[in-house]
Amino acid sequence: MPVSKSGGPSFPKKKDWPTLTFKQIARNTSQSRHDLSHQVKVLNLKFGLSKTAYPAGNLLGVARTYTPDTSYLRYTTSIEIWPGDKVKLSCSCDDFKYRWEYALWLRNCADIIYSNGEPPLVTNGIMKPMACKHLIALHNALVLKGKISSLV
Ligand SMILES: [Zn+2]
Repeated sequence: MPVSKSGGPSFPKKKDWPTLTFKQIARNTSQSRHDLSHQVKVLNLKFGLSKTAYPAGNLLGVARTYTPDTSYLRYTTSIEIWPGDKVKLSCSCDDFKYRWEYALWLRNCADIIYSNGEPPLVTNGIMKPMACKHLIALHNALVLKGKISSLV
């Protein structure tokens, strides 16, 4: 937990808050990713109030995701929901790492976790804020299980 010099919890400055809603990101996301999200399996779904996020009590959904018949690789996928349905997104897959993490980070909608923090000039030169199929699948799983109402 970050602590300010006065000893209290240090809240992020307003400019550090996510600037896009999940709906805005999902609308930017290609139809093919929405279609492919139906093949994604969502495992070990956990959902609750985040202990680490600020402001305290943001909702956080985390799961392992994978696509049977395509790859044996399993990814860690998370959606953190801020006030006003603004979101911070993360996924350990290559699509997110090499295309979307940096573009979302520019809008405070992701932290640099899996990428090297350099702009994806070749794969997403216009810095379009999109989500991978795992994030769409995680959102849909949270809705299906009644954990959240649809954000799209
Ligand atoms: Zn992904």
